[in-house]
Amino acid sequence: AKASGRSTYKFYTSVLQAEVVGKLALEKELREAIKNEELEPWFQPQYELKTLKLIGFEALVRWNHPTRGVLPPGKFIDLAEETGLIINIGEIVLEKACAHLKTMQKMSSQSLKMSINLSPRQLESDNLVPFIKRIVTKNCIDPRNVVLEITENLLLQKTREVLDTLAQLKSMGIRIALDDFGTGYSAIAYLQQFHFDQIKIDRSFIQHAHENGKDIRLVKLMLGIATHLGMDIVAEGIEVNEQLSALRDLDCPLGQGYLFSKPVIFSDAEKLILKNEEH
Ligand code: C2E
Ligand code: CA
Ligand code: CA
Ligand code: CA
Repeated sequence: AKASGRSTYKFYTSVLQAEVVGKLALEKELREAIKNEELEPWFQPQYELKTLKLIGFEALVRWNHPTRGVLPPGKFIDLAEETGLIINIGEIVLEKACAHLKTMQKMSSQSLKMSINLSPRQLESDNLVPFIKRIVTKNCIDPRNVVLEITENLLLQKTREVLDTLAQLKSMGIRIALDDFGTGYSAIAYLQQFHFDQIKIDRSFIQHAHENGKDIRLVKLMLGIATHLGMDIVAEGIEVNEQLSALRDLDCPLGQGYLFSKPVIFSDAEKLILKNEEH
């Protein structure tokens, strides 16, 4: 029994060690990647559901790893958050997405929007507001076309400072969206504390919105709340035509998802804009 106890202990130690070593290696790689400009935003188009008119894009970060290919944020964003590297990554995404928005605006006859995800760490940083001011000015973009997405659980802590930062951004004209709506705690309470310009209905509600009566009623309820509070609403994760028509029947105004397009590199986003211009 003693021997097996020791080997169990040994086993856990080595698993832990492997985990720590793996994390350290990944952190080192991620630092290098930032320096080598291997991180960049990709773009997923958003549409007006009634007309299928393009209204803008959500920027989603990707890591062009030299040997492992294109890595989605699920592979590195938690570590980036833990190590604080998310601040650098967030600045890269903000910088590039806003520069690209400028180019997109020139190609498009209507004004397109750019949605950008913010992490909790970024919102706690004193540098965020001046940084955003600087890139908006530098690129001469209308701040009303920039949408910053934050998640519900972010509002659980640091309420005072975060609400201050959000208010400063709003006073510049920047729009604020509540991401993954419906998945966190007491979402409704947050809607009272802060006026969001947009809510994004989480994919988990959209998935069965064409076949499950309960989900349909929930989406309907969220649409009602958004309309009542004067917020825009975006349905996330529309994958099949049945979901699109169910959302249209509910008069859901905006949406995005694989049915329209996966996130794409900038040059492919340009093609989507040109296609939209032909209509
Ligand atoms: P999110 O903000 O909720 O983004 C939506 C995710 O769903 C994206 O995954 C997108 O590619 C994926 N998606 C879009 N349409 C569909 C669909 O029809 N079906 C399915 N199954 N998935 C769909 P992605 O790009 O892997 O990003 C995952 C998460 O990583 C994001 O969730 C966001 O929380 C975070 N993230 C992405 N980019 C950034 C960034 O620049 N900064 C920060 N802080 N977080 C980011
Ligand atoms: Ca998002
Ligand atoms: Ca989301
Ligand atoms: Ca999410």
